[in-house]
Amino acid sequence: MSDLMQPLSFGHLMSWALEELRRDGSIFGVKESQFWHPEPGRLITDSFGDRLASPVGPAAGPQTQLANNILVAYLAGARFMELKTVQKIDGEELRKAVAKPCIQAEDEGYNCEWSTELTVSEAYDEYLKAYFAIAVLGKELGLGTVDEVGFNISVGYDLEGLKGDKVNSFIDSMIDASGTPIFLECREWVEDHLGDLSHFTREDLDTLSPQVSRSVTLSTMHGCPADEIERIAMYLLTEKHLRTFVKCNPTMLGYQFARDCLDRLGYDYLSFDDHHFTEDLQYADAIEMFRRLTAEAEKRGLSFGVKLTNTFPVEVSRGELPSGEMYMSGRPLLALALSLALKLSQAFDGGLPISFSGGVDALNVQEILSTGIQPVTVATTILKPGGATRLRQLSSLAAEVMTDYHGIDVDRLAALVDDVLCDERYHKRYREKVHSRKTDSPLPLTDCYKAPCQDGGCPIHQRIPEYLKLTAGGELKEAFDAIAFDNTAPTILGVLCSEPCRDHCTRLDYDQAIDMRGVKLAAADGAQDAFIEAIKPPALLTDARVGIIGAGPAGIAAAIFLRRNGMDVEVFEKLEGPYGIVRYIIPSFRITPEQIERDYQLAVHLGVRFHFSCDPDYSVEELKKTFAHVIIATGSWGRCPSPVIEGHDNSLDAIEFLWQANNEAGASVGRRVAVIGAGDVAMDCVRTAQRSEGVEEAVLVYRRTEPYMPATQHEVNLVRSEGLTMHDLLAPVSYDGTTLVCEEMRLGEEDAGGRRAVVGLGTYVDLLFDTVIGATGATVETGPYARNGLAQNARGLAEVDTSFQSSVANVYVIGDGRLGPSTIVRAIADAKTAVRVILNNEHLSVDYDSRPAKVERDRHEVHGRRGLLIATVNGKAEGDRCLTCDVICEVCTEVCPNRANVAITVPGFADPAQIVHIDGLCNECGNCGTFCPHAGLPYKDKITIFWTREGFEDSTNIGFLPLTDGAYLTRMPDRSVREHLSGQGDLPAGMSQVLAAIEKDYSFMFAAPVGAQS
Ligand SMILES: Cc1cc2nc3c(=O)[nH]c(=O)nc-3n(C[C@H](O)[C@H](O)[C@H](O)COP(=O)(O)OP(=O)(O)OC[C@H]3O[C@@H](n4cnc5c(N)ncnc54)[C@H](O)[C@@H]3O)c2cc1C
Ligand code: SF4
Ligand code: SF4
Ligand code: SF4
Repeated sequence: MSDLMQPLSFGHLMSWALEELRRDGSIFGVKESQFWHPEPGRLITDSFGDRLASPVGPAAGPQTQLANNILVAYLAGARFMELKTVQKIDGEELRKAVAKPCIQAEDEGYNCEWSTELTVSEAYDEYLKAYFAIAVLGKELGLGTVDEVGFNISVGYDLEGLKGDKVNSFIDSMIDASGTPIFLECREWVEDHLGDLSHFTREDLDTLSPQVSRSVTLSTMHGCPADEIERIAMYLLTEKHLRTFVKCNPTMLGYQFARDCLDRLGYDYLSFDDHHFTEDLQYADAIEMFRRLTAEAEKRGLSFGVKLTNTFPVEVSRGELPSGEMYMSGRPLLALALSLALKLSQAFDGGLPISFSGGVDALNVQEILSTGIQPVTVATTILKPGGATRLRQLSSLAAEVMTDYHGIDVDRLAALVDDVLCDERYHKRYREKVHSRKTDSPLPLTDCYKAPCQDGGCPIHQRIPEYLKLTAGGELKEAFDAIAFDNTAPTILGVLCSEPCRDHCTRLDYDQAIDMRGVKLAAADGAQDAFIEAIKPPALLTDARVGIIGAGPAGIAAAIFLRRNGMDVEVFEKLEGPYGIVRYIIPSFRITPEQIERDYQLAVHLGVRFHFSCDPDYSVEELKKTFAHVIIATGSWGRCPSPVIEGHDNSLDAIEFLWQANNEAGASVGRRVAVIGAGDVAMDCVRTAQRSEGVEEAVLVYRRTEPYMPATQHEVNLVRSEGLTMHDLLAPVSYDGTTLVCEEMRLGEEDAGGRRAVVGLGTYVDLLFDTVIGATGATVETGPYARNGLAQNARGLAEVDTSFQSSVANVYVIGDGRLGPSTIVRAIADAKTAVRVILNNEHLSVDYDSRPAKVERDRHEVHGRRGLLIATVNGKAEGDRCLTCDVICEVCTEVCPNRANVAITVPGFADPAQIVHIDGLCNECGNCGTFCPHAGLPYKDKITIFWTREGFEDSTNIGFLPLTDGAYLTRMPDRSVREHLSGQGDLPAGMSQVLAAIEKDYSFMFAAPVGAQS
């Protein structure tokens, strides 16, 4: 495959759009229900002077490169199109300079591309095709007329290039397209098809203005001299009579301001020096220049303004993209762009028009427009799941507040800047430390939809979308049934789960991951008591019995799964009650005894027999006389490694401290307490210490900084919300019972995992504490393993196989006792694995592996939710935010700016649609690979339709190249290539079904067959 895009002819574009609309009720994947219908006649005059039905649209970028991209943006709600920049370097010359993949938009966006990859004349044709397609389809579909849409050209990067034939004739032909070959071609096609159209008339065609653009945004390279920028802008005003806006770089704010602002928002890992700041246009020069240009524009009855802002250049430091420098956009750019807007607005008393782009999304668009800033354009938000359909919500919200341009409200803008700098949503930590949402599974050729929360996130594969829907619909009993199927501690996990599912939730790329834990607790609160009352101990199906040592989450989970499936189980626990760490160590301000008891009753009612206060010196040999299988689930309670180099004995261990605080009269720790560590246990310790009698101040001491803390963001946020101090970049050295000596540190280079090393500065601070608590990770007490003859690894942990069976036959080790300190949900997952093998050995079925039918979900309803940002809500209704990814994924179709991934209906599969990749539309930007929940890359791994032999030969993708006379050249899954006739070729079932469906219903996805091309 190659990154060369092959634009659709206007005829092909229109027949694709109309045929897909007729067949599937969508155009390039945008469903009819997702089309944006403006209020008829409600128009504003924007700061450029265009009459618009919405001041929102795609920024000059990947979404305005091809005609189909621009059409899709229009259908979804865009009415201001900032067309991708053209310059003298174009086509192949430019493509060679752009490394691929060129987009990385996991959280904040990065790209290493700049102007159009097409030739300037191809780009021109695309813009004209888009103009005609919008004119015709807008009218046909009742979405408005094309004169309610702004087509803003974007040109760069120097005057000489602009005056050259290529760019000069581009500009002239955008101002007046009449007579250009593409104008005539589009016109002719429409004329020929007037008979097929219902609302677009001959009169519409005859009155269609050839004046496509009246405005221009000037883009200049970093380092472009001030006088060159002024010369170009003056040329565009005086020679081309265009309303002209100059795109400014955020570097105008100065290095220190940008660094401080980004650090404050948690983007301290972004790497950049001051060279762009000193080489780019300087603020003072800009002010003078903008005054002169404003005066010139006024003289000519034109408008002059600024576009804020360009992307922000940073170094590639973590292998984000295959280039040296990359350009940042999205969330962190908002604060910079608004700060520059404020600075300029103050200098011009609100009189300098601002076209805006940089971190705009549905949750801030109204505030931004209300300052008078307009139009607003977006790129990063529509590169994320939902894609262009996010424009629908943006334009609907914009329409509520939009007004004619009347200057900038400086006070309002100042207040907005203050808000943004303090708003959690713009802080890096808002994304909860998640880098990639992808999971480990290979991407299947067909039937690829999956809910990544459930398959890849949740270690016990809970039916998350199912219980979310049931809970939101008020069906708490059914929801709880679905939860309890896989989860033996629904209430405890409803309160305490570390939620690895959230790290993979598609909603994370919209607004915030679903609060699965809260929903689970709502279901348990509503239905668990009745569920317990209804439990009847199942019949015993075998004489073989299982003995379990340890009644923590792992031991109880194993007991429940075994008993539920017909085995007799006894649990031996050395403490007086159940649930191990959860009951005896985790502070009661996090989980109440009643909540723990509720889960314990699930096991009791099933008929699990518990023995408490047992002799801890268990003997496997003895147990095996009674039990066919033994499970050791004794947890990880050993003292943590020394938190200081000297003075270990002077520190208190976290588990010891929490045991005293929870189970004894309370820990006596003095007035000032330090907790060393940054995991969840450290967070519990510092919060418990602060609540302990006599304590005046409890603090955390950590050698890195907050973003690198291993604790979940939720737990860190709780510590912060309680006002507790976190001393970062301090490495404890010694503690003598009074003075904690720490070396001051700085962050060093990043390792491959993105974690920055710490480097000692050689300077030391003395801090006075009455108690220092070490919370650097408990250890497993391995003596019992040795005593019972279990083989051990170098760390002393029991050697186990994939079913967690130890070296002693039929003896299993699970939970923290196998893993070291981990989480409750992983302990339950361990139990599932070991129990599966035991049940198999006893020839019993495993109920949690036989999944009941999924609840019905309406595809239209799911599509209706796509693209909508919705703030998180507490409790049951939270489930309504779920995007039901197992029923419809289609993320790759949404995030592709070029619409090169297509969902088609193919009978005979589990998923309602299959994904087909169109080679000719893909420029290998890589964006679909970022967001596909599998490990694979849709643009490389899905069945591909090729349009040319070169495309086929340059590629290793599995797929079809149509030849003449119904023949195909096909690359098979084993990468062999064969030529065959339609319906023949001995294709694997999935491929032949997909090809048959394309031939029957989606032939518009083919280009002309290769032999038939001229
Ligand atoms: C302070 C703290 C906070 C935590 N917070 C969370 C959280 O918010 N969310 C989360 O998911 N996880 C959390 N964890 C981790 C979680 O509690 C553990 O991963 C989980 O409890 C492990 O379950 P387990 O059954 O393997 O071990 P344990 O809970 O340790 O249970 C082991 C049981 O075996 C018993 N036992 C040990 N030796 C013997 C013996 N010789 N004979 C008989 N019985 C024996 C113990 O008394 C205990 O009851 C936290 C851990 C700590 C320390
Ligand atoms: S949106 Fe719903 S189905 Fe999709 S990952 Fe999140 S919780 Fe799971
Ligand atoms: S298919 Fe994927 S790689 Fe290709 S253009 Fe679309 S998003 Fe980019
Ligand atoms: S992103 Fe596309 S290829 Fe990946 S699972 Fe979803 S539909 Fe399939």
